[in-house]
Amino acid sequence: MLLTLTTTHRPATDLGHLLVKHPDRVQSFDLPAGTAHVLYPEADEARCTAALLVEVDPLKLGGGRGHRRRAATPDSFTLGQYVNDRPYAASSLLSSALAKVFRSALRGESRDRPELAATAIPLEVRVPVLRCRGGADLAGRVFAPLGWAVAATPIPLDETYPEWGDSRYVDLTLTGTLRLADALNHLYVLLPVLDDAKHYWVAPDEVDKLLRAGAGWLADHPERSLITRRYLAHRRALAGTALARLAELRLADEPPADDIVDTEPPGEAPRASLAVRRREAVLAALRDSGASRVLDLGCGGGALLAALVADRRFTEIVGTDVSSQALTLAARRLRLDRLPERQRNRVRLWQSALTYRDDRLRGYDAAVLMEVVEHLDPPRLPALEDAVFGHARPRTVVVTTPNVEYNVRYDGLGDGRFRHADHRFEWTRAEFAAWVDRVATAHGYTATIAGIGDDDPEVGAPTQLAVLTSTETDNRKEETTR
Ligand code: SAH
Repeated sequence: MLLTLTTTHRPATDLGHLLVKHPDRVQSFDLPAGTAHVLYPEADEARCTAALLVEVDPLKLGGGRGHRRRAATPDSFTLGQYVNDRPYAASSLLSSALAKVFRSALRGESRDRPELAATAIPLEVRVPVLRCRGGADLAGRVFAPLGWAVAATPIPLDETYPEWGDSRYVDLTLTGTLRLADALNHLYVLLPVLDDAKHYWVAPDEVDKLLRAGAGWLADHPERSLITRRYLAHRRALAGTALARLAELRLADEPPADDIVDTEPPGEAPRASLAVRRREAVLAALRDSGASRVLDLGCGGGALLAALVADRRFTEIVGTDVSSQALTLAARRLRLDRLPERQRNRVRLWQSALTYRDDRLRGYDAAVLMEVVEHLDPPRLPALEDAVFGHARPRTVVVTTPNVEYNVRYDGLGDGRFRHADHRFEWTRAEFAAWVDRVATAHGYTATIAGIGDDDPEVGAPTQLAVLTSTETDNRKEETTR
C-alpha cells in the first residue's frame, strides 16, 4: 500500500527535514506486520514528494487463512497488485506505519525547521487505493471540514469489465494548506476510520492515542461521533469514554460563547461546518486587506488565532478577551509554551474589555470582531464603537454576527430564541446593515457586507459579514512606499 505526500512550498526539499528522511536515500523500517519504505519519487526546489510504501508480510499477519479467503473475493483481481494481502487491514497498517516512520513530524517537532513545522504549507496527499466503507462521499465528509479539498474516485472492480461496477476502494487525493503535523494526524486517525475493518489492536490506550492525535480538530468535527466509533472499532465502552472526553474539550474550547447552533440544517449535503466557513471568510478578508499586524477582539478559545498563527503573512497577532479563562484556553490551544520562540513572539494575549479605550490596541492594520458584538448589552454598543472605531482605529475591521432571519431554518429556533444563551440580541440583515452604515459614517470608514454559509433565497445566509475600511490616508503605507 502506498501513500504519497507532496509539497510545493519553496524550497520543497525542506519536506525531507520535516519528515527527518533524506530525499536522496531510500530507507526501510521493520513493522510488526511487514516493512515500510520511504523514498522520494521527485525532490527539487519547486516540488517534492515523499512516498511511504508498506509491504505486508502475510505470514507475519498471522497464518495463511487470509490467503485462502482472499482468493475468493472478486476485489483481489485488481487489487492484488497494490495490496499484498488482507486488503481489509490495509489502512490501519498504513496508519501505524505512518506513526512509526514519521513520529516527530506527527508531533509537530522539527530540529532543523521548527518554524516551518509550525507553518501551514501547500500539501497534496494521495492514497491510490484506500478501502472506504460507506462510499466515496464519506471521505469528503471526514476530510473536508478539516480544510482539505477532497477528490475520492471509486475504483472499478475490474477495468476490463466495467459492468461489474465499483469496488469498495477509492483513489483519494487531498489538497490543502496545512501544517504537516496536522495533515499527518488527520491521516493517522482517518485512514483506519474509512477502512473500518476489524482492528486487532484496539486497546484502552487507543482512546488516549485518538485524543492526542485528534487534539485541536476532533472535538469540533461534525463527524466526531462516527470517527470515534469507527476508530475504536465499535467498542461501545471505549467510544463512550472518548466521546465524553471530547465533549469536555468542546465546552472548554468554546467558553462561554460560540453558537450552540453552528451547523447547517439537517438533510443537506455534508460540507465544512459553518464555524470553519466563517473562519475561512474572515481569513480571506484579512488577506485581501493586506494586513500583517492583526487584532482578534473577543478571541474566545482562540480558534481564529490558531489559523492566523499558521499563516506567516501575519507577523503580529493579538488576541484580546474580557475573560481570563478564555485567554488561558487560547494559550493552551495555541500550545504557546511549546512554540519555538520566534513563533511565540508573534502572538500576544491580552485581557481587555471592548467597552473601554485601550491604548495598546492602537495602530494595527486590522481588527476582527468575530461573533462578539451580539454578546454585548445594546446600551454598551456605543462604548465598543468608540473603543474600536474611534480609539484603536485599525485600517480594516472585520465583523461577523448571526443573521436572526435564518433561525427559522434551524430546528427549535423558529420561535424567537437566539442561537446562544449568552447572545443579547441577534440582528436581521437590515438591522446589521443599518448599524454598519451608521458606524462607518460616524468614524470615517467605507463598508461592504456579505453572507457566510449557504444563501437561502428567503432568509439569506446564516452568518453576516461586514468589512469596514478606513478612508483616512494611510501614513504608514505612504512612508514605506516613498
Ligand atoms: N471570537 C471568538 C469568540 C466568540 S464568543 C469566536 O468566534 O470563536 C464572544 C467572546 O467575546 C467571548 O469569548 C467573550 O468572553 C468575549 N466578550 C464578551 N464581551 C466582551 C467584552 N465586553 N470585551 C471583550 N470581550 C468580550
